[in-house]
Amino acid sequence: MEHQADVIIIGGGINGSSVAYNLLHDGFTGKVVVFEKDKAYEYASTPRCAGGFRQLYTTEVNIRISRYSLNVYKHFAEEMALNGEKPDIGFKQRGYLFLATEKMIPSFEKNMAVQHRNGVPSRLLDSDELRDLIPELNVSDLAGGLYCPESGYLDAYSVMQGYIKYARHLGAEYIYEEVSALIIDEHDRMKGVRLKNGDTCAAPVIVNCGGAWGADLSAQAGILFPIVPSPRQIFQFTCEKKLTRHLPLTMDPTGVYFRHEGEQLIAGYSEPIRSAYDFSWRREDFIEHVWPVLAGRIVNFERLKIVRGWAGIYDYNTEDHNAIIGKCPGVEGYYVAFGFSGHGMQQAPGVGKGLSELIRTGKYETIDLSPLRPERFAEHQLVVEDAIY
Ligand SMILES: Cc1cc2nc3c(=O)[nH]c(=O)nc-3n(C[C@H](O)[C@H](O)[C@H](O)COP(=O)(O)OP(=O)(O)OC[C@H]3O[C@@H](n4cnc5c(N)ncnc54)[C@H](O)[C@@H]3O)c2cc1C
Repeated sequence: MEHQADVIIIGGGINGSSVAYNLLHDGFTGKVVVFEKDKAYEYASTPRCAGGFRQLYTTEVNIRISRYSLNVYKHFAEEMALNGEKPDIGFKQRGYLFLATEKMIPSFEKNMAVQHRNGVPSRLLDSDELRDLIPELNVSDLAGGLYCPESGYLDAYSVMQGYIKYARHLGAEYIYEEVSALIIDEHDRMKGVRLKNGDTCAAPVIVNCGGAWGADLSAQAGILFPIVPSPRQIFQFTCEKKLTRHLPLTMDPTGVYFRHEGEQLIAGYSEPIRSAYDFSWRREDFIEHVWPVLAGRIVNFERLKIVRGWAGIYDYNTEDHNAIIGKCPGVEGYYVAFGFSGHGMQQAPGVGKGLSELIRTGKYETIDLSPLRPERFAEHQLVVEDAIY
């Protein structure tokens, strides 16, 4: 084969680059090669995401990943500084807020108990407290909201670049070529990958971090995952009358969410799942699905101007809407981290740490990611997360 490595990572997005960084930072001395087909990251999900970070999950594994990742993001600038240059990931800990109708309160109370058991300082706010947080909020149909002040939003592209730069500094090689096939020998062991340009690269360990494209590549080798690529849009807008305070990332009971982006705002909604690589965005969708909710929730949003929009792709796990992380049974040396279903940006630090440990030592030490193992589908051990939109 033309190239050789000890570990190949397919996909140099936030998760692939976090795996590369963590492996080398944790002392792995082998050669790590990252293949990335989209050098400008034009279509990768990471730069197209909403940057939301939350701990308001309902499963322990997702909360554990968030707790770990929160700590990393809080100290990212210092810990990822290179040659005195600190990456600015713009982490705004303005809180994460799920607004609740009367009907939603009992399940939010149940979720809060799980969160408290795992160290998350979530609180149920009443209408007055909601209005303290967002003075312009229409609370007439709300019974309260579940709030976590430590969470918020950040710049996913800068996190990704921080990981890439540091991984390269530690010796990872980034090759901007598309992997067209996995090479598996007759004993079901990973041998390497074939590239679109015809070259091959040998390695005993392959980590598939190919995002919305990862499961397709795997399927070509006959290794199937319940993941479809599903498009999601984001709309950026301004409003004539500025809000009194900067917003937490706020999730309306309808699934419409909004937050500040600088002094402007962005919003998105829970779109129906459809399997497509469609990067177009439609003004009409904003007008039909998002604007009425925004205008009903905050009076300032009755008069607004769309600045731009974009779409990205969720790697959507159709079975339990959670990441699939770990070693694949049946093929020695094959690891995956995909299926994030819209919350993979915030999980990247924990994913990288976990896979670094699994690959180097054969077990998880810092965070137990085993509930997200690929074999959970065959074992009927789904990880059902209620709070996914
Ligand atoms: C509109 C939208 C909003 C979102 N909002 C949030 C949010 O608020 N919070 C959150 O945590 N998450 C959010 N997400 C999800 C988040 O963006 C993803 O879960 C996360 O970015 C996944 O990172 P990744 O590195 O796994 O994938 P990606 O960033 O997609 O990276 C995968 C990379 O693999 C490369 N690749 C794929 N196949 C190959 C191949 N065969 N050969 C070589 N390279 C290959 C691709 O080019 C790509 O660069 C959102 C997503 C979208 C679309």
